[in-house]
Order: sequence, then C-alpha cells, then structure tokens
Amino acid sequence: MNSGTTVADKIALRIRHNQKGYFSTLGISVTNRCTLNCAHCIRGSTAHSSQMDTKILSDIIDGIPCVKRLVNQVAITGGEPFLFKDAIHRITEAARSSEIKTSVVTSAYWARSPAAARETVRSFPWIDKFSISTDLYHQSKVPLSTIRRAYDAAKAEGRLVRICVTVNSRNSEEEKAMLAGISEFAYDADIRVQELLPWGRAIDKYSGPISSRVPPIPCISTGPFISELGVIYPCCGPLVTVPSRTALQETLDHSLYNSLNRVKLNPLFHFLRIWGFGPLFERLSIAGFSSLLPREHLPVTPCSTCAALFSVDEINEYLLGLSKDYEFLLEVVAGSVHIMEDNTLLDAYFPCEERLAK
Ligand code: SF4
Ligand code: SF4
Repeated sequence: MNSGTTVADKIALRIRHNQKGYFSTLGISVTNRCTLNCAHCIRGSTAHSSQMDTKILSDIIDGIPCVKRLVNQVAITGGEPFLFKDAIHRITEAARSSEIKTSVVTSAYWARSPAAARETVRSFPWIDKFSISTDLYHQSKVPLSTIRRAYDAAKAEGRLVRICVTVNSRNSEEEKAMLAGISEFAYDADIRVQELLPWGRAIDKYSGPISSRVPPIPCISTGPFISELGVIYPCCGPLVTVPSRTALQETLDHSLYNSLNRVKLNPLFHFLRIWGFGPLFERLSIAGFSSLLPREHLPVTPCSTCAALFSVDEINEYLLGLSKDYEFLLEVVAGSVHIMEDNTLLDAYFPCEERLAK
C-alpha cells in the first residue's frame, strides 16, 4: 500500500476483502434453548425457547453434500448447541464426510472439570473449531476457570479454538481485567474482541455512539443463517430478531441447496452489498417513505439500520415488490459485474446460452 493511501481507502479495501468471504459460512441454530439467561443475549434465549424439529434437521443433513458447492464452513450455533448434542453429532459428521469445516459456538458450560472438558471435546470428533463466547454477563454463570478448562481441552485434542469476548466499553476496569485474565492462558491469535450491540436483550445495554447519518458501510454478511424454525436469513445479525417476514429471508424447503441459493441470489441483498443503505434510503424517500425511515443509526455497523428498516411492514412490502422488478434486477446485475467483479448473478439470471441466442 503506498503512502498516499487514506484511511477511507483502507476501510474500503477492508470492506471489499470481507465481502470476498460472502457465503463462505453457513450458520445453523439447532436450538434457541439456553439456561444461562444472559442479560445481553441477542437471540433472547431461555430454557423454554424453540428447538429444531427432526424434519428440519433431516432436510439439512440430507442437503449438506450439495451445500459444498455454496459454502466451505458450517457454524453450529444457538442458544446453546450442546443442549442438543445429537444435532451437533449428525451435522458435523455429515459436514466432515463432505469435507466441509465445522465450528460450534458455545458458552463452554460443560467444562465443569478437566475430565468433563476433555470427555466432551473427545466425544465430538468432527468439530474442527470450538468458538467459546464469554464476557462479563456470561462470567456470572460460567467463570473464566471453566473457559480455561474448555480452551485447554480443545487445544490438547488438536482442535482450533476461538474465544469471542463481547465488551461494552474497552476502557472499563472490569473489562480490562477480564481481557487480561483471558490473555493469561490463551494466545492473542485465539482471542477475538467484539463490541456489544443493541440487539435482542442487549437493546438497553449499548453505550456507544448513535448517529443521525445512515452508515456508509455496505452489507458485509459472510454467509446465511438457518434458524431452529427453518427460516433462512442472509446473515446471523439482528435481522433474525425482526418478528415479521422480511424481503431478505426464505423458508427452508426440502432442498437445502435451492433454499440457500434463493437467499444468495436475492437482488435486494446484492443492492445492499454493492451500494449499501444510503442509496436505498434515497430510493425509499423518492417512493414516499421518508416519514417511515429509521432516524437513528450506529456508525460502526449497517446491521441495526437494516433490522430497523425491515421492521417497518410498509417498507418491507415495497422492497419485496422491488426485489422482483426487472429494471431493478438489471441495475443490480450490472453493479455486481462491474463493481464487485462477480458474474454469479449474471449467470443465474441471464444464462450464457440465452445471451448468445439474442
Ligand atoms: S450463553 Fe449465549 S445463547 Fe445462552 S443466554 Fe448467554 S448469550 Fe444467549
Ligand atoms: S443485518 Fe442486513 S446489513 Fe447486516 S449483514 Fe445482515 S443483511 Fe447485511
């Protein structure tokens, strides 16, 4: 990178780099149950939340061999996936047979002793990576000593481990002490720190900046997410918490590949990846929706804006129609080819044979 490179250039490069990872990971929530009841839980998980039924689980497992053409990693999440061990076993075994990498997001509550930690890790031989979530909210139920046991057991068994730490303010003494405590036993490369965002039960816990400006960052989803109810979203972000059906989601049918492909080829989703929310807000203003547009945004992410926008039924309905509009499709396909240098949409909507026949 030459010395004339600006911060904006670096951010743009970073965004494009992340966007290259588009559809690399398929998230699957096998259960939304969890007994920890953390005060900041984005999914609002409780001990009585929904769990995936056998039919949806079987459709996913049957579809995994074909999914290899779309994604290269499956991330099992929840709720707490270890409350539905059979689902973890079956999905990770199917993924391993198809040479797809697997990871499981967990609170590591099961690492109650060194022996229990080792036993749990050993009994899931097809999990490639343990993604352990912790923060001050988790630690009142799962202390750092338990996280350490899970980390050590996974490392001893030759698995990858990532400790994902959510912080509300990196400057708080308590959070600094927590991060220092984790650094005592985990390599820096295994620790990922992320900011708490006002989604799900954390809605009133966010203390970061709020802006009236629509965030300039486009959608940087790295892959779709299937909920325990068989609803497919373009990401695992706050769209998952929107109660009504959004113009970006699909329902899993008997073909996992086709269902995921419908999400992947949604022109509205690509509009958000290519141009982001500013141009969409302009379009919605022209269409007469100014008074319904969200007015508060987070400068650091477009995802809160996305969830707020798709929570407005009238806007959702308009965007559903727009995503089926031919002129809109042409515009998005052109953007995808010329800006993203990606022919996926062109090939899907305007197959080469048809183009040559014209
Ligand atoms: S451990 Fe995770 S899923 Fe369970 S309540 Fe806490 S944040 Fe939610
Ligand atoms: S919430 Fe919206 S903007 Fe954020 S990753 Fe998902 S689809 Fe993209």
